[in-house]
Amino acid sequence: MQIHVLGTRNVSEDALNSIIEGLQIVFPEKTFKKKANTLEIPTEAFNPERKQYLSTAILRKVRGYAEEHGVKTALGVVEVDLYVPRLNFVFGEAECPGKAAVISVFRLKPEFHGQPQNETLFIERCIKEAVHEIGHTLGLTHCDNPFCVMHFSNTIYDTDVKQRFFCRKCYSKLAKLSKE
Ligand SMILES: [Zn+2]
Ligand SMILES: [Zn+2]
Repeated sequence: MQIHVLGTRNVSEDALNSIIEGLQIVFPEKTFKKKANTLEIPTEAFNPERKQYLSTAILRKVRGYAEEHGVKTALGVVEVDLYVPRLNFVFGEAECPGKAAVISVFRLKPEFHGQPQNETLFIERCIKEAVHEIGHTLGLTHCDNPFCVMHFSNTIYDTDVKQRFFCRKCYSKLAKLSKE
């Protein structure tokens, strides 16, 4: 199964490479393809009152890409701050199950939280959120285990606590789902 990882022009190739390297460890049976500078943020996604971008509008764009290119799954990586109605922000969003997922690096940067710049921590956070959203596309829902990658991140601390891997329960659910 092939997963295309699409970046906007403001997401570096280096970041995409590191994210894909991390994803490959969690999903050894899947093939990842880097598509830098491929995703464009649709103008209608911007909400001038919130100064944020509606993630669902970007998700639609990612889904369009997946359909157009006949790929099973596409993950968009964007640099803008994402929201959905009723939440202050989201780290990402995905169809569950489905073809499309999106993550934002905006709030994953340590600098955003007043922490010193730290590329390793930043990439680790990106990988966790990417695995989480891909997990949704495969049909996994949220998990109560705070160390499981499918745990919902309310804050960046939740992201830092959880690991990039599925807990045993989610892992066996995943195995069952992929057999269906
Ligand atoms: Zn989630
Ligand atoms: Zn779990």
